[in-house]
Amino acid sequence: MRAAPDPSRGFLRLRHPLPLAVSLLLALALIGAVSFAWQVFARNQRAQQRTDSVHALEVLANQLNGQLRAYLGAARILRSEWERYGSASYAQFQADAGTIQSAFPAFRALNWMDTNGVIRWVYPSHSNQPAENYDLRNNPDAWAAFRRARDSGTLAVSGVLRLTQGGRGIAAYLPIRRGAQAEGYINAVIGPEALMRQVYSPRLGRNYSLSISDGRHTVFASDAGLQNAAYAVQSTLDVGGQTWLLRLAPRNIRTAGADAAWTVIAIGAVLAMIMAWLCYWLLITLSERRGSQLHTYRAANFDRITGLGNTFRLRAHLLEKLPAASAAAPLALVLIHLGRFSLINSIYGFARGDAVLRIVTKRLLTLVDSVECLFRSGSNEFAVVMPLAASDSEETLAKRLMSVLSEAFEIHGMSLRLPCSMGLAVAPEHGASADDLLANAESALVQAREDKVSGHRVYSENLRTGTATKLRLESRLRKAVENEKLTLVYQPIIRVADRYLQGFEALVRWTDPEFGSVPPATFIPIAEQSGLIELLGRWVLEKACAQAAEWSAEFGKPVQISVNLSPSQVLDLGLVDEVRRVLDKTGLPPECLVLEITESLAMQSLDVAVDLLNRLKQPGINIALDDFGTGYSSFNYLTRLPIYAIKLDREFIRNLGSDQRVTKITGMMIQLAQALGLQVVGEGVETAQQYALLHDYGCDLVQGYLFSKPVPAEQAGILLAKSRSFPHPDFQAEPRHGMGEGVPIQ
Ligand code: C2E
Ligand code: CA
Ligand code: CA
Repeated sequence: MRAAPDPSRGFLRLRHPLPLAVSLLLALALIGAVSFAWQVFARNQRAQQRTDSVHALEVLANQLNGQLRAYLGAARILRSEWERYGSASYAQFQADAGTIQSAFPAFRALNWMDTNGVIRWVYPSHSNQPAENYDLRNNPDAWAAFRRARDSGTLAVSGVLRLTQGGRGIAAYLPIRRGAQAEGYINAVIGPEALMRQVYSPRLGRNYSLSISDGRHTVFASDAGLQNAAYAVQSTLDVGGQTWLLRLAPRNIRTAGADAAWTVIAIGAVLAMIMAWLCYWLLITLSERRGSQLHTYRAANFDRITGLGNTFRLRAHLLEKLPAASAAAPLALVLIHLGRFSLINSIYGFARGDAVLRIVTKRLLTLVDSVECLFRSGSNEFAVVMPLAASDSEETLAKRLMSVLSEAFEIHGMSLRLPCSMGLAVAPEHGASADDLLANAESALVQAREDKVSGHRVYSENLRTGTATKLRLESRLRKAVENEKLTLVYQPIIRVADRYLQGFEALVRWTDPEFGSVPPATFIPIAEQSGLIELLGRWVLEKACAQAAEWSAEFGKPVQISVNLSPSQVLDLGLVDEVRRVLDKTGLPPECLVLEITESLAMQSLDVAVDLLNRLKQPGINIALDDFGTGYSSFNYLTRLPIYAIKLDREFIRNLGSDQRVTKITGMMIQLAQALGLQVVGEGVETAQQYALLHDYGCDLVQGYLFSKPVPAEQAGILLAKSRSFPHPDFQAEPRHGMGEGVPIQ
């Protein structure tokens, strides 16, 4: 006998018309919403894909243009070396070509040709042997470009050529002149594949197919035929008189086809029905019995975004685990701080900031025993508690954690790296109570953050005393900044061409009653870490601009002033408004202001820097790249940054003349920067020999003790009043002391 079904227990209870009507209505509304959302989504996706392609192509074209300019600039340098030495010897030519090719590896060959169009010397000789004594008349395309160079007397570039020595190349021809005499031609051959490797990255290659043609031949093709050609975007590039056509197409078309739409709507409909029923069911069956207690517990102990325990849980966890910790079974506490995180929130929005936090959580979870050992202890801080195995040390633990965090985060189509600092303390050695351990890990973290670059610190007694001095310095500095006890000194910047006083760099000074004179290299980092830099930077900017405006009015001529910006100032979104406000207030014309930013900052956050600098540049302010050559110098990046000058780092100038390699590289850097339309400032010029070399290389501006140390405002005013032209340093008996009529400065 079969039992009659109990209607009150059925999940789908169809007996009552009201719930049925409600749920069907809800389902219909949901289906409508799904199909509408689908259409909007599909349309947006098509538009977004096209915008992405246009953007990617624009970036690629810019970079390619930058590369080509840099390569042609390098070929010009080879020519100017020839012209400077007079007819170069074969050995001289090989050495120069070697230096250039090591910096510009996409050169397949650097040749010298005689005036009849026959290649005579080749470099590198082993791979280009067949080209030796090659007569260009045998290749109509090459001959045509050569004739253009010969007839116009300037650089000409060929289309893609098949080379006698095998492979393909783009050839540039540059006439060499000595006086009225023609001395042949520099023939530089660029391998298109090697060149493109520098701009068409594997990441771009995964997403886009690319073809470039010079009108007759293919310069570069990523695939046998352009993928999805119907979706391609295109642009052109002028290459030494040739027009290149660039076409870029996405590999995966984000289509939202009609059949897919029906499937989505059908699935949506089914889901909508189920949802509607479930809603109804839950509404009537679930009372408010449960819920609120659980919710309160979670909110008080766990982080909403990552699901990890918060500081409250961290303390509870330490209290639970610490009693078991011993010298034989130590327990490590690691505090992790993500640098520049607030920048992601403010520029890309909180949703992306949250995404970063989730990625960090996921990566850290791969290294810890369980989710209970990982905590989110602050807005951009995480904590890890784990036993330190006998085979493990604080160092290896920190390195493991660092390795997962140093990988790039892909956000908003960009790949960003966040600097990350860690502080470690181990129980019971560094503290047996939760409070001590937390405090000591925290002071190790503070120290690690002060070291600036990503890194970690393990707690030690010394560290605590070091931190105490720092804290004291910080509080004294805060007072000095608030009471305007800082001063500015001004170092002249001199134009090489006529030794005319172009302007000054403003440098901040601090003398404290207790600590004496503290160098900026010590107190600027403290100001940056403590947030004081905002106030300090504002004061320096305003004071320096007011001083320059005063001088300009007094002497009836614009006086240029350079102000240093520290990385955190540049990355501060309020900077643009602040600079405009100061210019308005002081009445200094924007062209008189130069903002100096460090090369390392610009390279670390290239996309952010390009964006912010462009906004600063709009009102007409000049931006200079400070400490150039200290690490990241890539001329490829230079083409993207909206700057007007580079300041060659003191280290370069110091070895000028004494180190052959440095001397040669400095000369080439100057020429290359100028080929990109940038001014070059030589910093820290101390000897007449350094000055003479910079002069010969055509460096635009110099600055250094040879001319003057940084001086107080009154003395700078006297320099301006006396004469604005500096005597030749060769005439000075004692170069470390000043200038002008033998009056020593300082
Ligand atoms: P910097 O911008 O590279 O400044 C140039 C430094 O080189 C100055 O040191 C200057 O006194 C020194 N100098 C100039 N000519 C010579 C020379 O011929 N030989 C030698 N050996 N040194 C020379 P200073 O004033 O100690 O400044 C050190 C750094 O502190 C500066 O490097 C800059 O990065 C920073 N700084 C100074 N003032 C400010 C400021 O107002 N704001 C910020 N954010 N940073 C500042
Ligand atoms: Ca500077
Ligand atoms: Ca510098």
